[in-house]
Amino acid sequence: MDDRIQKLKELIAKSNKIVFFGGAGVSTESGIPDFRSQDGLYNQKYQYPPEAIVSHTFFVYKTEEFYDFYRDRMLYLDAKPNITHIALAKLEEMGKLSAIVTQNIDGLHQMAGSKKVYELHGSVLRNYCTKCGKFYDVNFIKNSTGVPKCTCGGVVKPDVVLYEEGLDDKVITGAINAIEEADLLIIGGTSLVVQPAASLINYYNGKDVVLINKSSTFADQRATLVFHESLGEVFSKIL
Ligand code: ZN
Repeated sequence: MDDRIQKLKELIAKSNKIVFFGGAGVSTESGIPDFRSQDGLYNQKYQYPPEAIVSHTFFVYKTEEFYDFYRDRMLYLDAKPNITHIALAKLEEMGKLSAIVTQNIDGLHQMAGSKKVYELHGSVLRNYCTKCGKFYDVNFIKNSTGVPKCTCGGVVKPDVVLYEEGLDDKVITGAINAIEEADLLIIGGTSLVVQPAASLINYYNGKDVVLINKSSTFADQRATLVFHESLGEVFSKIL
């Protein structure tokens, strides 16, 4: 691994428009599990698979059940940024990293100090009334019971992209621009199976790709460097 760390350090040293593309694996080291990788335990508690619950249709027709799952399994308000979040914020501060494109919805990159973060799937920290648009913070949702309602009577919805919903155009455009202009793409903590997010990496024009993920991905072939070690192990060694 030392050779690869050395090589990664060299790549970072000669880059100043690094884009980090991350997934659930970035936050698992902060104690936030990937809701997709849930085992039978949850399936015993919930009548539907997580992917079905976290869908637009389910939200509309079974809002209360959606929120039972959501409050229980998708909100981790005590989670703190880990070494990867911190290292990435530091790289941005050093003028090395231009943007983070994340599939995570926990806001931990911003909590670590990152400024340019494209949240492809939204954020649990933002919630809006579906009727009047009034903003509600995450504590409002966490402390609510049943279906959280606005003062106007409308249902409050998390600003999170559910299955069947499209990604935000502005976020996508920003992410694509950042990736197109990147001089180094670091992909971490994602198995690159969730579309359309994963296909964004195809916009990268640069030469070097670094892949850090526990299991292999389709992009390993194209990568200059592959780490199957944990993100924490890698990022704790590069700064
Ligand atoms: Zn309202």
